[in-house]
Amino acid sequence: MNIPLIDLKAQYKEIKNEIDEAVSKVFSNCNFIMGEEVSEFEKSFAEYIGVKHAISVGNGTDALTIALNALNIGKDDEVITTPFTFIATAESIAAVGATPVFADVDRYTFNIDVKKIEEKITKRTKAIMPVHIFGQPCNMAEIMRLAKAYKIKVIEDACQAVGSEYMGKKIGSFGDAACFSFFPTKNLSCAGDGGIITTDDDNVAIMAKALRAHGSGGSGKAAYKLVNGNINYELSDKTGDNTIYNPDKYYNFLIGYNSRLDTLQAAILNVKLKYIDKWNEKRIATAEYYNKNLTNKAVILPFKASNAKHAYHMYILQSDDRNEIVSMLNKSGISTGVYYPIPLHLQKALKYLNYKSGDLPISEYLADRTFAIPIYPELTKEQIDYIVSTINSI
Ligand SMILES: *Cc1c(COP(=O)(O)O)cnc(C)c1O
Repeated sequence: MNIPLIDLKAQYKEIKNEIDEAVSKVFSNCNFIMGEEVSEFEKSFAEYIGVKHAISVGNGTDALTIALNALNIGKDDEVITTPFTFIATAESIAAVGATPVFADVDRYTFNIDVKKIEEKITKRTKAIMPVHIFGQPCNMAEIMRLAKAYKIKVIEDACQAVGSEYMGKKIGSFGDAACFSFFPTKNLSCAGDGGIITTDDDNVAIMAKALRAHGSGGSGKAAYKLVNGNINYELSDKTGDNTIYNPDKYYNFLIGYNSRLDTLQAAILNVKLKYIDKWNEKRIATAEYYNKNLTNKAVILPFKASNAKHAYHMYILQSDDRNEIVSMLNKSGISTGVYYPIPLHLQKALKYLNYKSGDLPISEYLADRTFAIPIYPELTKEQIDYIVSTINSI
């Protein structure tokens, strides 16, 4: 039996008619940039997360970069984050000219250890960027308490946590801003790159809307007014489809980015958002089944915090014998993944930060031991049982 780590074809098969219809509708209108599907998705996503605003962008990395920029974080600022994550987390901090400062993670949740955040706070600290890694919510009560006490911002990297909850509230509704990715491997995904920023802060929303599209037009003007006070430009109120000629585009108020969510991607996400709870429930049921039935003492099962709903973007095992186990699983046709083989503080790209091996021992320990097994929602009972029996027989 061959089981991939993620099966996008199986998901497409399930909803093919709806996706094809949504895509074909976009082609019939050819409103490829900022078509009505984009604002429709933003509205539904904001409602789903339980926040006032959702501002869609080109990908999750840009969501983080634009959120930092919208919160006025840049040169000479420090942002505390986790080293046990995808590069984009720290990359976004570096991209706005700020310095990523790493605090080690908790051995059980794999998330940033709140006690270690406080040790890293300095006069230059402007924000904390917790990552809800693999879908497991961070300790947001403690993180928000710290942020309040030190008057610093919180930007949640929720790229792996659509539908995760902490104390009954959706992830993405705690920080000053939160960022999601719709990269094809995420639990809510589009057919290419996509991302979104959620926030309850009107000013962050104004800034993010301007920044994602060259700081131009009505959005740019609103952001300019926020930063610089009143101005007297008269612009038409033209909004909506941006594919055809729009004179307001050529009035630029801030230096921003070109990072919009394509109408095609929004149309696909409008279809998929209706299924996300069902898909997450399936992931959770599979995780519970694994937890109950994986009995091989050579692997350690994932921990789940009791006050959280873990969306299981990934199901992560640990073992001293990772390489042997992974190679035996691969020989049996079961795909695996290693997230993440090198913690960010030891990545060549971040060498200039001068961390060394041993600085963040728990992240380094986990990087040598963790691996993911398939948990996508379309897994059949037969496939799940095959994975369980293969692991138990090693
Ligand atoms: C995927 C991911 C990102 C980046 O998202 P892209 O859409 O690929 O740019 C950022 N942070 C984390 C934790 C991610 O998993």
